[in-house]
Amino acid sequence: MPQECSIVEDLLPLYKKQALQTTTIEFVEQHLADCEHCRQKLATSKQSLGHHLPMKRTLTFFHLIFIVLSFMFAINSSLVGNQKSFVVSYAIFGCLTYFFYKNIWIVFAISSVPVFVWAIINNINNPLYVTDYTFTDIGTLLIGACYIALLHTIFALLGAAFAIILRRFTKVFR
Ligand SMILES: [Zn+2]
Repeated sequence: MPQECSIVEDLLPLYKKQALQTTTIEFVEQHLADCEHCRQKLATSKQSLGHHLPMKRTLTFFHLIFIVLSFMFAINSSLVGNQKSFVVSYAIFGCLTYFFYKNIWIVFAISSVPVFVWAIINNINNPLYVTDYTFTDIGTLLIGACYIALLHTIFALLGAAFAIILRRFTKVFR
């Protein structure tokens, strides 16, 4: 019986995912019917599965905060128009984003996309850029938005580079 228990225990994760063949499911269920030990195992594993869910939710919550924050950064830096403050805030932002995600492409996306989108929203009604919505006007708008996004992204990536160096540095001394 203990041998059968260890087999059933190994099968339980697949059983929960419903990834077993019908005959194997029958075997597991037959065993569960007359084995209190394995029923308990199934019950506790269900509980621990439930514990993972809130954790995932907090992570999505943090993702959301990051995205909102990046948009706020984008809006703020273009409203204030203070060149020096955006350099510092984007370097810090890039650094934090890298520490959080450990992925340089996310730093790139999160620092460029909001600025790009905001630059378009901000300038689409600006007569300085767009007068009669011609092809050249839209082109200028897009190029301008790309330029602003790139400018912000460079400093975010510099911040991320600092984070990468810092991580290497702390690994060496660990
Ligand atoms: Zn058992």
